[in-house]
Amino acid sequence: MKQSTDGEGAISLARRSPALRCVKSAAVVVALALSTGIPSATARPPRPVAHGSASEAACALRSVDGVTMSEGFPVDYSTFSRASGRIRALTLFIDFPDARADASAQARYDEFFPAAQQWFATASYGKLEYEPVPVLKYFTLPRSFTEYGIERGYGWQVHQQMMRDLLKVADKQVDFKDFDLVNVLVTPNAGPPASETVLSVTWTGATAAVSDEGGALDKVSVIYGHDAARYRVLNHENGHIFGLPDLYSGTDFRRTDRLAGQWDMMSLDWGLQNDFLAWHKWRLGWLDTGQVDCAVGDGTSEYQLSPVETPGGTKMVVVPEGEHGAFAVEVRSKQGNDSSACSEGVLVYWVRTDISSGQGPIRVMDANPRTAACETSSNSFNSHNDAPFGVGGVYRDPLTRTAVDVVAKDDDGRYTVRVTKG
Ligand SMILES: [Zn+2]
Repeated sequence: MKQSTDGEGAISLARRSPALRCVKSAAVVVALALSTGIPSATARPPRPVAHGSASEAACALRSVDGVTMSEGFPVDYSTFSRASGRIRALTLFIDFPDARADASAQARYDEFFPAAQQWFATASYGKLEYEPVPVLKYFTLPRSFTEYGIERGYGWQVHQQMMRDLLKVADKQVDFKDFDLVNVLVTPNAGPPASETVLSVTWTGATAAVSDEGGALDKVSVIYGHDAARYRVLNHENGHIFGLPDLYSGTDFRRTDRLAGQWDMMSLDWGLQNDFLAWHKWRLGWLDTGQVDCAVGDGTSEYQLSPVETPGGTKMVVVPEGEHGAFAVEVRSKQGNDSSACSEGVLVYWVRTDISSGQGPIRVMDANPRTAACETSSNSFNSHNDAPFGVGGVYRDPLTRTAVDVVAKDDDGRYTVRVTKG
C-alpha cells in the first residue's frame, strides 16, 4: 500500500459488533471437509520427516498484490509494523466536549495494561516486548463526538480530522516521534455502548497527520467503549498494525462460524480459543522457520507437533496446494492464551493468500461438523469449538488429495500426524 495523505491506500479495519453474538449460528457445512473418525490406512511407507528449510519457499506462500492484508509472505513493513523485539506504543486518551471523561486516564489505561502486554508476551513466546508509553491525561478534542460523525466503519476523512485535531491539542505536550504505533483510548462514555455498536478501528497504510517534530500518525488503533473482549480488543486492533487480516466474515457475520470460529484473536477476540493460529505466529516472526515443517510433493510423511501455546518444538506442518493455498496443521491445548479452550487436539485449516481481510482467508476444518460445543460460552459461533481431531481422527480432502491422520499423542502433549498427498 502506498502511503498518501488523501487516504488512498489507507486500510481501515473495523471490528464486528459483539452484539451480533446473539445471532444464532447456522448449520455448518464445510465443503472441503469429508472428515471421519476412522483412521485411514495407507500403503505407502512413510518418508523421513523433512524439517524446515529446503522446501520452505513452497510453504511460505507469497503475498498477493491487490489483496487487502494478504495472508502471504513477506509482511510489508512500509504499511505494517514489525511484531518482534521492543515495540513502543504511544498510548493517548481522548474525550469530547459533549462526552467528557468521567473517570481518570489511569483507570482507562488499567483496563488494557498490563493484560494486553502479557497477552502479546505469551503469544509471541517473549519475542514481542510491548512497551506502552502512556500520557496519562485526557486530551479533549475541539469538536463534539456528534460533529465528527463517528459511527461504525467511519471513513478516512473523519479519522484524518480527528488526528489533526489531536495534534492541535496534544502536540505541545507529547513527542509523537520514535513510536512504532499509536493507541488512542477514547473515553468509554463517548458514543453508544459497545454492546450496541463496535466503533473500534485501526488505520494503517497512510499518514493522517504529522506532528511538529515530524512524528507521523500512520499506524493508529482507536479503541471505543467497554468491549465484550475487554483488553483483547487492543490486541486485535494492534494485530492489524502488525499485518494480520480480519478472519471473521465482513459481509455475512454469521458465516464466521464456518470460517475460523473462535480459533484466532483476529476472528472473534472474545472467544474461548484466543491465541493466534500458528500461521499468524509464523508471519509475525514468532515462529522460526525451523519450527515449521513443509510437506511438498506426493507421498506420506510423519511429523511431531507440540502445542502452539508453549514455546519450543515444531508447531506446524504446511501442505501447500498451488501458489495461493495451503493446509496448515497445528496442535491446540488448554493452556497459556488458550486456557479457556473448549477442546484440544489437532487443528487443520485452509489458508488462502488471494482472499482479502474479512472475506475468509482462513477456514478451519471441523472434525465434528454436525455438532457444536461449549454453547454456554456464547449463544453462537460454537460450531468450530469441537474442530480439533483427536488420536485416530483423519481429515481428508479429495479435491487436493490431501489427508491428515492423527497417529499418536505423547505424555508431553505432542501429537504425531501423518500427512499424505496424492
Ligand atoms: Zn479487525
